[in-house]
Amino acid sequence: MLRTHTCGDLTINDLNKEVTLTGWVQKSRDLGGMTFIDMRDRYGITQLTFNSDDNAELRAQARELGREFVIRVTGKVIERSNKNLKISTGEVEIKVSNLELLNAAKLPPFLIEDETDGGDDLRLKYRYLDLRRNPVRNNLVLRHKMAQEVRKYLDGLDFIEVETPVLIKSTPEGARDFVVPSRMNPGEFYALPQSPQTFKQLLMVSGFDRYFQIVKCFRDEDLRADRQPEFTQIDCEMAFIEQEDILNVFEGLIRQLFKNVKGVDIPEVPRMQYADAMRLYGSDKPDTRFDMQFVELTSIVQGQGFPVFDAAELVIGINAKGCAEYTRKQLDELTDFIKRPQIGATGLIYLRHGADGSLKSSVDKFYSEEELKKWSAAFNSQPGDLILVMAGHKDKVRKQLSELRLEMGNRLGLRDKNVFAPLWVLDFPLLEWDEDSQRYHAMHHPFTSPKPEDIAMLDTNPGEVRANAYDMVVNGTEIGGGSIRIHDRDLQSLMFKHLGFSVEEAQKQFGFLLDAFEYGAPPHGGIAFGFDRLVSIFAGLDSIRDVIAFPKNNSGRDVMIDSPSTIADEQLKELKIKTTV
Ligand code: ASP
Repeated sequence: MLRTHTCGDLTINDLNKEVTLTGWVQKSRDLGGMTFIDMRDRYGITQLTFNSDDNAELRAQARELGREFVIRVTGKVIERSNKNLKISTGEVEIKVSNLELLNAAKLPPFLIEDETDGGDDLRLKYRYLDLRRNPVRNNLVLRHKMAQEVRKYLDGLDFIEVETPVLIKSTPEGARDFVVPSRMNPGEFYALPQSPQTFKQLLMVSGFDRYFQIVKCFRDEDLRADRQPEFTQIDCEMAFIEQEDILNVFEGLIRQLFKNVKGVDIPEVPRMQYADAMRLYGSDKPDTRFDMQFVELTSIVQGQGFPVFDAAELVIGINAKGCAEYTRKQLDELTDFIKRPQIGATGLIYLRHGADGSLKSSVDKFYSEEELKKWSAAFNSQPGDLILVMAGHKDKVRKQLSELRLEMGNRLGLRDKNVFAPLWVLDFPLLEWDEDSQRYHAMHHPFTSPKPEDIAMLDTNPGEVRANAYDMVVNGTEIGGGSIRIHDRDLQSLMFKHLGFSVEEAQKQFGFLLDAFEYGAPPHGGIAFGFDRLVSIFAGLDSIRDVIAFPKNNSGRDVMIDSPSTIADEQLKELKIKTTV
């Protein structure tokens, strides 16, 4: 090897050793007759010294080195007079006796330091330089550790890692597919998997019993902070199990990750019905780091002449503890917040429970003190509290109040990134009404089994049918979801029928799975975790982009390699794809 030690190795215990190190010039400074260089590699930073009195030529050579030059030095480990106790190597420096330039470097377009001056676009274009920075590299080290922990845990439980194909045919997970033209089959296309869903189910039919894969999935969706066109799942499936088994095994996985990677003990993960999550938090992924549950006021406030409440399907509110002294300006800010187009509410009603016990609302005209006392009782408000109330269509107003609840959580400092509140949300609806296509869609995917006791409702009341489906949520983010599957051909066919597939369509698209169900399919179920999201939560980051080595930007572009890009006419011709221009 070109070195005897790394830049993170040497400490006061190595004094007087003769060592050879390699790395990048982070920065250099001159002081009198001396030059100091911070040399960096993946492991740390070591200070090099060059003294004119010892070797003027060598020092002159050192002064020529620019940022990010790659060098190799040999020298003696000596004690530093000016110690930096913040880094492990900060008590020593290398008195260099030999310097070798391994490669020069152009001046980097941004500072390669923990705090950089580079904007997002620039850093993405030069991602290989951004990856030299500690915070970015540390995210990938964390990701690596988590992947190893996942493998260790699942291997310990006899899960087998199987690779499923990447060139497949469409899997209906609700997003658009990325497609790949087939040269050898002109006019035909592969699709990239949105998940290995059908393959992992087939592996259960094959008797694999316990499968997992840390796998790339592809969805052609509009991008958001937490979405990338390609992302990674920890994809799992088990046979001969019930929902309870899946919950236990994968709760174990998450707890082991928290314990071994972050040193955090997670108590047993609480469980909540989907219907309760919607009723109490207005969200199927509630942030349970803080309470502030919804309180329904409809029956208390209607019929008193206030038209907004009288016309509403649902009147609900939250109790923002200790916020009674909010100023007019602060309340206006909250109103503006919920009126933003992304939230789209029309107004906010408040009730201050003053420190002196008084009750003052923004609708005093319609509600006497006696009435307001009923509000206060419903919220169990104490002097100093502020009650915020919204009204409207049930589903809409719950969603809107959910946003306000999270905003209040932020304002009150209740969403600490170092606190972790995992939660199972259970019994999702099987179907979801889609306004655009005017029909029901599978809420999870078409292979999810309905609760046996609800099957009869498929014909009469499809929207009410519950599924054996579950999500794991951490701090208001869905990190994983899965279900017990259908393993019976007739039930699967019935499901396709309810999703609007004709018998022929279902056979054409999913015949392979329906056929497989006739060859001894065991009861099975599984789950997939969004690995990027999980890592970003562990890293305390909002975006998954920072935990992916080479991510795409908000328009789905890789600006470093400049992709997607056009391809040559020759290539198009070979693929039998006609150009339109
Ligand atoms: N394939 C599902 C998904 O990607 C997960 C599962 O049901 O196991 O969400």
